[in-house]
Amino acid sequence: MLSRSDALEAMTSDRFDVVVIGGGITGAGVALDAASRGYSVALVERDDYAVGTSSRSSKMVHGGLRYLQNFDLGLVREALLERQLMVQLAPHLVYPTPFLIPTLGDDRRDRRYSVGLNMYDVMATTRVGRSRRDRQAREQAEDYWAPDRHRTIPGDEVTELVPALASQKPSSAYLFYDCQTDDVRLVLTVLGEAERFGAVFVNDAEVTGLLEKGGGADGVACVDAASGERFEVRADNVVNATGVWADRIRPEEVVDEEDVPRISPSRGTHVTLSLETLPVTGAACIVPAGEQRTIFALPWYGSALVGTTDNDYDGDIAHVEPSMSDIEYLLDALNSFFELTLGPGDLTGAYAGVRPLISTGDPRKSVDISRKAELYETSSGLLTITGGKLTTWRRMARQVVDRMVEREGREAPCRTGDIPLGMSASPDDLELPEGLAEADLPEGALDQLAFRYGYAARNVLKVAGDQRDLAAPIVDGRPDLIAEAVIAARLEQARSVGDVLLRRTRLGVLAAPQLRDATSVMPVAEAMGGELGWDKRRIKREAEAWVEIARAEGVDPAAAVS
Ligand SMILES: Cc1cc2nc3c(=O)[nH]c(=O)nc-3n(C[C@H](O)[C@H](O)[C@H](O)COP(=O)(O)OP(=O)(O)OC[C@H]3O[C@@H](n4cnc5c(N)ncnc54)[C@H](O)[C@@H]3O)c2cc1C
Repeated sequence: MLSRSDALEAMTSDRFDVVVIGGGITGAGVALDAASRGYSVALVERDDYAVGTSSRSSKMVHGGLRYLQNFDLGLVREALLERQLMVQLAPHLVYPTPFLIPTLGDDRRDRRYSVGLNMYDVMATTRVGRSRRDRQAREQAEDYWAPDRHRTIPGDEVTELVPALASQKPSSAYLFYDCQTDDVRLVLTVLGEAERFGAVFVNDAEVTGLLEKGGGADGVACVDAASGERFEVRADNVVNATGVWADRIRPEEVVDEEDVPRISPSRGTHVTLSLETLPVTGAACIVPAGEQRTIFALPWYGSALVGTTDNDYDGDIAHVEPSMSDIEYLLDALNSFFELTLGPGDLTGAYAGVRPLISTGDPRKSVDISRKAELYETSSGLLTITGGKLTTWRRMARQVVDRMVEREGREAPCRTGDIPLGMSASPDDLELPEGLAEADLPEGALDQLAFRYGYAARNVLKVAGDQRDLAAPIVDGRPDLIAEAVIAARLEQARSVGDVLLRRTRLGVLAAPQLRDATSVMPVAEAMGGELGWDKRRIKREAEAWVEIARAEGVDPAAAVS
């Protein structure tokens, strides 16, 4: 990624075909789609890439089994096709995981799931590709993945995959497949591809208004948070991809015109636990949570990730904290299902995100657009896209760029279905630089690096090879390297310790109790400081700032009870 200063210079000196507001998965997708069709593209993100909902998802690339309950068949099918395509385009970053729906003790198997899973299987087998030849070529590719049909597995296999269930004597489980990823890394990877097609991005810069020419949108006015300076990005097309903030860009246009209603968000909370505390080691598990609701317990980055809740939220959407009542709801569901006695003190992290619900003014008639993408074109020509899913980013992006192409009468078909995301690599493909041996790295580091960066992990390894103390882990017992903080600052526009701990790595929500004070994050602040020219006082200040960020984000519920 270009450095911030180079990106800012390029943005202010050139005119663009498209400027995208918002650096979540939707904005990143639009940037890639537009750039790969030959548009010149600039993208402006107010805070950090993926800081909004795109870092706060359940990290699943999935069809959404539960949407079948509402007969959202088109939506599920579309998402399943995207799931399959994502595994092919980013095999290092999007991977299949077995999911279990267990039956415990003498309980009867819930046959309704069998009906849903049969439908899920049928929808997932639809093959991806424009022509038969294309499909055959895909299927013969080495990394081709198609999910096996769901099946029923016996109790002993269930406890092997999910040892947390051993005391509950499961008699059987339905097993089906969905996929997982790291949502932030998906955003960064899509941005990386967009950059290869010439797109430029800058974070920490807020769009404050639309520029106009002859009544039409002609770019955006921005404020650079780092310098406080105003700057303008001139562009023929403006895309508003600001998720739950979508109605704050030109509210008089986006909200008042046509039937675009106000967004009223709903909060989803997740918690993390160590796999020793909740051993869901070999499969994800669907856990009943009362009133016909379910939650997930997923293995993720060597931890257990549990979520999610879904409650109306009227707080500040810039800082969405997990609420203690949501956390207790998740823990109650786990305790009841796994027969445990977990409390907030057992948590290794927590986070919350908001879904956009469209409010009609009548609370009983709010429309859930959190799954279905909505594209609005308003009088200035501004294109606003919101809703949808992490899984369906490519389709949302295509919808936006198709509209741009249509209104300009261009001939430019979407290409993103054929663009690999990042250079995929297995741990064996990662050559260690001279002088650095695998034994010098924390356990699991190569696997994690290959997952997170693909072949680009060689950049991290080179830094660790050049300066061996950077090959050490950020947190003892975790494979994330201090060298990653260097790469985050050098190549990924990370500007704060929070950017590294919450997004470039996910340690902030996976190992929060080990990152409680400024001293614990000093190696990260020092590594970043070396890149960003921070002096000793600034390094100390940045490490201290992390403690504030962690508190504001509510990542460490265990701190309150310790
Ligand atoms: C709890 C929860 C769990 C979910 N789990 C899943 C899942 O497992 N799988 C799945 O497929 N989907 C999931 N989703 C949905 C998915 O996360 C979202 O659809 C997706 O992340 C939305 O991305 P976005 O880019 O539209 O919005 P965001 O990621 O919120 O991005 C919007 C960006 O715009 C920026 N911005 C706002 N205002 C301005 C401005 N004025 N100037 C510049 N920038 C601005 C923000 O800082 C932000 O970065 C989940 C959602 C929630 C809430």
